[in-house]
This record gives sequence, structure tokens and C-alpha cells, in this order.
Amino acid sequence: MQTKLFIGGEFVDAADGATVTSLDPHDGSVLAEVAEAKQEDVDRAVTAAKGAFHHWSRLAAADRGRLLLKLADAIEADADNLALLETRDTGHPLRDTLGLDVLRTAATFRYFGGMADKFQGTVVPVEQGFLDYVVPEALGVIGQIVPWNFPVMFVSWKLGPALAAGNCVVMKPSEITPLSALRVAELAAEVGFPPGVINVVPGYGQTAGQRLVDHPDVAKLSFTGSTDVGKQIARGAADTLKQVHLELGGKGANIVFDDANLAAAVGGTAFGIFHNQGQACIAASRLIVHESVKDEFLERLVSLAGSIRVGDPKDLNTEMGPLTSALHRDRVLSYLEIAADEGGAVLVGGKAPAEPSLGSGYYIEPTIVETTPTARAAQEEVFGPFMVVHTFKTDEEALEIANGTAYGLGGGLWTSDLSRAHKVARELRAGMVWVNSYKRVNPGSPFGGMGVSGYGREMGFEAMREYTEPKATWINIDANLPAFYRR
Ligand code: NAD
Repeated sequence: MQTKLFIGGEFVDAADGATVTSLDPHDGSVLAEVAEAKQEDVDRAVTAAKGAFHHWSRLAAADRGRLLLKLADAIEADADNLALLETRDTGHPLRDTLGLDVLRTAATFRYFGGMADKFQGTVVPVEQGFLDYVVPEALGVIGQIVPWNFPVMFVSWKLGPALAAGNCVVMKPSEITPLSALRVAELAAEVGFPPGVINVVPGYGQTAGQRLVDHPDVAKLSFTGSTDVGKQIARGAADTLKQVHLELGGKGANIVFDDANLAAAVGGTAFGIFHNQGQACIAASRLIVHESVKDEFLERLVSLAGSIRVGDPKDLNTEMGPLTSALHRDRVLSYLEIAADEGGAVLVGGKAPAEPSLGSGYYIEPTIVETTPTARAAQEEVFGPFMVVHTFKTDEEALEIANGTAYGLGGGLWTSDLSRAHKVARELRAGMVWVNSYKRVNPGSPFGGMGVSGYGREMGFEAMREYTEPKATWINIDANLPAFYRR
């Protein structure tokens, strides 16, 4: 397990020797003491990235791509180790880190490895006598700040396109879950990424993160995290006029119409909210169900939620693990109290599980509460295994409830009526919509939000555009063209 900062191709201690303790959310035991980056360390990392940029951005794109493909292979070869590390650091069940997260991480690096030499410029059909070509150029040093909910996947979402486009990166993982990013950096060094191209500096947001926001040599800041911190980052970045890409919170609406395949909708809804203990920006945290199918749907969903196997995330049978930190568990519990105070009816869950074996871990039962769409529990992001339920009569009413928060990240609907599916998908205010499904992601499909869910996109060609700037070059190809001041 790597626990030091990765700067300029080497694992090093923090300049002042500081460390952050990483805890195992299953039982609160100490997992690792990880070096804590502060301003001096971030500055060193930015200098290393700046120094590597000229060579890296001028390498043949295919060569950058080849290294990303090698990294994808190395991640797959290390899957068992990386998945266990991620599980121990985050509490995310091993069956998911092994079966989804690590595989998706490799797939995303592979996608952008293939993309590197296919993302090309254009020639503009300008007036006779001139050639105008436009090349997407790398920006320089990219600062990337990520949260703790899917740390290993986010390493690939952020590093993949930034590196494919020719940028160098300083990444700050969450202080709570830094281990998988350090392991990916180690694998990157092993497969031959030049020193300085990738730097990983775990540390706190107020210090290491803030320094990345403020640093004049960071060209762009790509941030995934909460809406409140995203707003602070946008304000802070204004001082250096650096570009900002913000992937923020969500309050996903999941609409079940009366003509839906209920069995599929029950399974999809449970996955939408309880996967990763609900700690997903695109979690299906609001169920909006047609009143005529509500009773049957909820009966099945509550029964399924009550049967979810909550326990040690290292056990391959476990379907839901602990929340990632004690602080966050307490925050989610406080929302359960808020929901009750607002008059919400608890249909299932609502507390920490009673099993003594889970007593020292950060566990919460899968919870479903029926409440009003204007309740705080229905408006604010809770980011836990907690779903609110509302009912509706007409499609218009369903859309009004679905679009009735400030967020606009993911949303879903379940129906067997094709034209209703398209109409409602069109009207949902969300960056991603799933029909008869929920929470699908793919490296080729743009990922991002509207409203207070942020701006900019991860994945696909959109991500390549995030990490490049178009440069137009005009060539005069006709020496006899009339000039303005010819003598
Ligand atoms: P957070 O905003 O508290 O922290 C995110 C990251 O920002 C961490 O690395 C943290 O150290 C850093 N940070 C905190 N304060 C900072 C500051 N002042 N300056 C610079 N960096 C700072 O979020 P979190 O609790 O780690 O993650 C949960 C949030 O992330 C949820 O709101 C969730 O919806 C959001 N999220 C969004 C997406 C998306 O793609 N839209 C994906 C995953 C998570």
C-alpha cells in the first residue's frame, strides 16, 4: 500500500512530515497513515507537472494513448488488490469494487487511450488564398479535486481525457479515501509514464485543495464534489481566471408510471438508491410513483430493501457496506431525524442496524420515507441509503415534482409507452436520463449536470473538449493577395 505523496515520479513524504489517518469504515480501525500535502507540496507538484508538460504535450498522441492502454492493462492485472484496497478505504462492497469499479476504471483508461490519436482538429473553409486550420491544444497543468464516493473510478474519469489530450495533472484525492489513487499512480509509473505527468497529493480541501484553486500555474481546475464547495471553487478560481469544470451534487428523480414493468422497476430503483450505500451523485434519491401502482410497487420495494444484505464489505455476499466516514454517517442520520420531524412516514429502515458485529462501523439500514416534495429531506442531497417517495396522478404532475429541485444531474423513468418515454425524457431537467433503467455510465457517454449540479462534462468527446483549447492558425497561401498597406 502506497501512503506517500506522488510528485515528479517519486513517492515522497510531505514537506512538514504531516499525515492523515485513514480509517476502515467497517470497524473504525486504522487502515493507514497517509502523507498530508500542504501548500509547499502542492507547489512542488505543480512545478513537476509544468516541467513535464512540454515533452508530454508534444509526444505523438498515439504514444500517449499507448501508455494509457498499458495502464488499463496494469489495472486489470491488479484488479484483486486494487478492489480490496478500495473496499477497505471506502466501505464499498467488494462485489462492486471488483465487478464494477475497477473494471470501469480500466475501461475508461482504455477508451481514452484509444481516443488520444482520434481527437483531431478541423480545416475551416475560409476565403480563397488562405488555409485556416484549428488544432485542439492541451491547456497545461490541470488541477483535479475528487471526492470519496468512487475514488478509483474518478481517477480514470479525470486523468484519462486530461492525459490523452496532452495535459499534465496534479490530482488531490479526498483526505478520506486517498489509497486507490496512489496505487494507480504507482501502476502508471511502472508502465512508463514520464515523471511529472501524473502527480497525486492527498490532503485536506482547505489547504491542498485551496492551493490548487489559487495556484497561478494551474490552467484549469476540474472538481467533483458538493455544490457548496463547487461554488467556493468557482469564486476562488476567478482570481486567476482559470477555467473550472464542476461536477456537483444531485437529487435524482425516478418516475414510475402506471404502465411500467413493475418487477424491473423495483430492481432498478433499489439499485439506483442503495448501490454504494446511496453515496452517488446520480443516486435515485426521489421515487415519484403513480398513485394507481403505488401500493403494489412500495410493497415489493420495501420487501426488497428489507432483504438487502448489509455487512462487512469484504464479504463477497454483502450487498451494502458501511458509509465511508463516521462524519458522513452522522450527517445522513441527521437527515433521518429531519425527515421524521417534517412528518415523513418511515416505510423501512431509518436507523443503524442492530447487529452487534456492525456496531463499531458506519452502517445505516436501507431507508425509505414517504414525504412531501417540498420537505427538506426531498430537496437537499442526503447522499446515503435514503430515498423519499412522492405520488402523482398526471404526467405533468410527475414532471413538476421531478424538476422541482435546484439540482439537474441524473433522472429516470419507467414506462412501456414509447412516446411517453421520449416526451418525459425530453422535459426532465437533467444531464443524464435513463429509461427503464437507472445509473448507466459508459466512458463514451457525456456525464454531467445542469443547475446547481454544475457545468462541463466528463467522458466522451466532451471530456476531450474540456481539456483542450482550439487554436486557429491562418496561412496565407497566395503571395499575390492584395495587402492593406502595399507600397
Ligand atoms: P466535498 O465537496 O466536501 O469534497 C470534495 C473534494 O473537495 C475533496 O477532495 C475535498 O477535500 C475537497 N475540498 C473541500 N473543500 C475544498 C476547498 N475549499 N477548496 C478545494 N477543495 C476542497 O464533497 P464530498 O463530501 O467529498 O463528496 C460528496 C459530494 O460530491 C456530493 O455532493 C456528491 O453529489 C458530489 N459528487 C458529484 C459527482 C458528479 O459527477 N456530479 C460525482 C460524485 C460525487
